Amino acid sequence: MFIANWKMNGSLTMLEEWLKGVGKTLNKSLQKQCLLCPPVCFLSEASNLISKLNLSISLGAQNIDPSSISSLTGGIDGSMLRSIGSEFVIIGHSERRDIFKEGDSLLLEKLKSASEEGLKVVFCIGESLSEKEQNQTLNILRQQLKIIKKVELNEFMIAYEPVWAIGTGNTANIDYIDKIHKEIIDEVTSYQKEGFLGICYGGSVDSSISKDILSIKGVQGLLIGGASLECEEFCNIVLTNNRN
Ligand code: PEP
Repeated sequence: MFIANWKMNGSLTMLEEWLKGVGKTLNKSLQKQCLLCPPVCFLSEASNLISKLNLSISLGAQNIDPSSISSLTGGIDGSMLRSIGSEFVIIGHSERRDIFKEGDSLLLEKLKSASEEGLKVVFCIGESLSEKEQNQTLNILRQQLKIIKKVELNEFMIAYEPVWAIGTGNTANIDYIDKIHKEIIDEVTSYQKEGFLGICYGGSVDSSISKDILSIKGVQGLLIGGASLECEEFCNIVLTNNRN
């Protein structure tokens, strides 16, 4: 799966151009492997455009609020996300863990809400630079994965995103990604979880490195931030997938 995480970028004009570009460049089979996560205010229009242009790309939200909190000004719950065309939701992105201090108990509520609404989840985990330097990577990842055990999810992906690689241009090296992905697979499959769709890597991916990363056996996809904003670059990344 190729996940385009637009973060807080984009416009209605960009959305239309981007989706038209995807339709012209990627065949249906490749489109089916793509997930667009634009800012939530564009999801409804994205859904309309996908129907109008007869595309096979999926849509996801970048965040969800727990449905257990009924009075939440500004909140958007899973049923609202579904009603505007979202099939997936990203939970646990390091930017939200860091900036909004989203910790395990809130993330667990978000996972439960996604599960109740039948949303598929992209659950992000990753270590910071100092955690890596202190040889804490695997402990941190195992700790972050623990809450997955506490909820019956529908289909879900793990996105392994080393925090030091996000938006920095410092893509993790191939051996490192290989080693960490194997560890994550062992950990998640030890819970014997149904619906586990695999692990995607995220962190400064562009088309110059995507083919090498995708050639790693344990990598089932890519979570792409900055490089997903340009339709041509995003499509180039998808086209480097030689597993078709
Ligand atoms: C991300 O948004 O999670 C991400 C990986 O961003 P970038 O590709 O820009 O590093």
